[in-house]
Amino acid sequence: MDKFFDQLNLHNDILKAVETEGYTEPTDIQKQAIPLVIEGQDLLASAQTGTGKTAAFLLPILNKIVTGERTGGPRALVLAPTRELALQIETQAKKYSRYLRAFKTVCVLGGAPMSVQMRKLSKPFDLLIATPGRLIDFMDRKKVDITGIEVLVLDEADRMLDMGFIDPVKKIAAKTPSDRQTLLFSATMPKSVIKLAEHLLRDPTEVKIHHQHDKNENIQQNLHYADDLGHKNRLLDHILNEKSLSNAIVFTSTKRHASKLLRELQDKGYQTGAMHGDMSQRQRTRTITELKNGKINILVATDVAARGIDVKSITHVINFDMPQSVEDYVHRIGRTGRAGAKGTALSFVTRGESYFIKKIEKYTGQIIDPLVITGLEPKAPKKNQNSEPRNFRQRRPFGKKPGGPSNGQNKRFTKRRHGR
Ligand code: ADP
Ligand code: MG
Repeated sequence: MDKFFDQLNLHNDILKAVETEGYTEPTDIQKQAIPLVIEGQDLLASAQTGTGKTAAFLLPILNKIVTGERTGGPRALVLAPTRELALQIETQAKKYSRYLRAFKTVCVLGGAPMSVQMRKLSKPFDLLIATPGRLIDFMDRKKVDITGIEVLVLDEADRMLDMGFIDPVKKIAAKTPSDRQTLLFSATMPKSVIKLAEHLLRDPTEVKIHHQHDKNENIQQNLHYADDLGHKNRLLDHILNEKSLSNAIVFTSTKRHASKLLRELQDKGYQTGAMHGDMSQRQRTRTITELKNGKINILVATDVAARGIDVKSITHVINFDMPQSVEDYVHRIGRTGRAGAKGTALSFVTRGESYFIKKIEKYTGQIIDPLVITGLEPKAPKKNQNSEPRNFRQRRPFGKKPGGPSNGQNKRFTKRRHGR
């Protein structure tokens, strides 16, 4: 075991669980955040998906709970924007607390019956994980008491705001003690998140892990110019048959597109499942299980639904339709290249969407080069594209560009700690 975890003075049974998980050394965000959380500081942390943020807040929180006085009520609350994410955090919490006797985690989320969750809330427990909407339901019915919360965590705050949870989050925070410790985690730091942080955090320490350069190194990003829908379908068909592809997520812009594409792929004989907002929790869990056990290998998804999917075998992310925002792009490609695996992210770009690619490149500091498949060349090739050798994956050197997320944002926060 790496000295880092040992030196943190964590409860032995937590250390044992970390060892069981096979974590030999901390990730960058864990290295920076855990000591600060133990000190009791408020935290404004940004790090990309897949960097181990969950353990960064859960380990010190579990430690605080087991070393302090048990009250019977929840002493820490983790808010997550989606059901998948909440469930994923619950799974991690159960792993890290597996050796802690009598430690109880309760997870409340929409899309599942209230009665079962209500029963769990009525017994003593320590850690509450929730999606904002469902928690408010329980609060309004006086079925949960969060007045004893010592640590409040907002996970994936950027997505929380994108999904319109700003008022619920503020309402929930207002019901917790004002002297609580607050930790905000976000993959990206748009102005809206900083504003929320100013509202909820007290003199936070800022932790930024900016290693997009080495972080995305294991994700090969490219694009295909597509003339129209038919062209996109032919490109997809070709790519889904590539040998290097084992599992893929194909992103569409709407549920309707997802359903249509799903049917078409199934008609062509692909083992395909869908992931969209209208599905019940059971359906979603079943689809993820099918993906993990190989019953399906292609998932057609929308942005909201794919949030929090952590399946290590996903080799390809395909943006059949481009996302609405740069943040969504970063979240989408983060579904591949999990836990250090190699990943491929391909975007189908129509004429007129080039500006958006430029925006993404500026934001991530990485170049997304076009690829051309023989026989599936775009009708209206973009500049330079003819000179590009076929299937040649050119990679220009990385260079940080001005205006990226690392450029002196958040000046108001005085204490700063920077990652690499
Ligand atoms: P994030 O919230 O930043 O997207 P997660 O917390 O979901 O990332 O972690 C991503 C993956 O990395 C998980 O499978 C988790 O078990 C694993 N992981 C977390 N910390 C470590 C560590 N110190 N060493 C090895 N793997 C880790
Ligand atoms: Mg996370």
